[in-house]
Amino acid sequence: MHRSKRQLPVIHAAAVLQSLPEGTIVTDANATVQFINNRAADIFAIDISSAIGKPFREVISHQEINKTIRGIVASGGEWCPPGIPETLNVTLNGQEQYFKIEVSPMIEEERLVGTVILLTDVTHYERADRLKTQFVATISHEFRNPLTSIVMAVELLLDGRQGELTQDGQALLQAIRDDGQRLAQLVNNLLKIARLDEVEIRMEMESVSVAEMVDMAIEPLKFQLKEKQITLSKKIPDSLPEVYVDATKATWILTNLVGNAIRYTPKGGEIIVSALHSNMKIYITVTDTGLGIPVRYHEKIFERYTQVKGNGTAGGAGLGLAIAKEIVEAHGGRIWVESEEKKGSCFTFTLPVNEKEV
Ligand code: ADP
Repeated sequence: MHRSKRQLPVIHAAAVLQSLPEGTIVTDANATVQFINNRAADIFAIDISSAIGKPFREVISHQEINKTIRGIVASGGEWCPPGIPETLNVTLNGQEQYFKIEVSPMIEEERLVGTVILLTDVTHYERADRLKTQFVATISHEFRNPLTSIVMAVELLLDGRQGELTQDGQALLQAIRDDGQRLAQLVNNLLKIARLDEVEIRMEMESVSVAEMVDMAIEPLKFQLKEKQITLSKKIPDSLPEVYVDATKATWILTNLVGNAIRYTPKGGEIIVSALHSNMKIYITVTDTGLGIPVRYHEKIFERYTQVKGNGTAGGAGLGLAIAKEIVEAHGGRIWVESEEKKGSCFTFTLPVNEKEV
């Protein structure tokens, strides 16, 4: 039997497309609009009768869709486009709605006869995702302050000024403090991830000196350095130009890298924080004499929730480096590690120089 005999009559095909819950637009092989169902007309707020017969780009100015249609037409339908990553956000009847967009080539007898643009309602998923993000942000925020107070109160008890502690009492309090600090770190990381997901990272850029940033970054770690008898030295040339960064976020990266270096370096080790200027970038490096990282993990550790097996992860969550990478990239920089097992690790990231200074 001839293939076309099995197809629906044309009038039925249009009725099917009209009744689809997805917004649907069909163009011919020259990207001229041939069909728009009511749903698509509502989503794009267009008048169907005046749109038919016009080039798609004159009817809908969405850049990504037009680019994809152009690609399909230029390749004669050979190119199978990936999905368009951003959802389309429109207000319909006073309600915000989100649509996933897919553009596909329409092939008949091995020839490109047109393209189909499909708009699927994903409002439900977007809302659930937003709620989840807000939930994580709220919970982490609510946990943070009481946790900080608990850790501070334990520190006060531990320093002995409130009265002598027995050895057992001291050990118990130390355990509370360590777990409290771990929990506070985890909550902080969660909060940062939730915020990063919410919108793309909001940057508050300013010009700051690298030496000052390093001092601020290591200040909260002094106690841990002392406890593990790790020496930290700084190699930062006086002539270094200032960096143009979001200072809070850039400092956080450094605190995290030095914090990791302390965590994964045995007692009595050494950490060096150094910086150098090259090609309008500042390279900041944190070197330690710790456990090191196997080569197969060198890229993976920058993904969320990745931890090196057998490194005794000391209560971390595998989030710090993933967040550090997002922040560095938001500054247009790069972060990477060079490391040899049992010898130590060397994390480097780049930040932009304040151009006015150079
Ligand atoms: P975590 O909170 O687990 O430390 P990170 O994202 O900061 O999360 O680090 C991911 C993993 O990379 C760690 O669990 C650890 O296995 C490894 N790692 C990070 N920094 C170092 C380092 N300086 N030395 C050895 N291993 C490290």
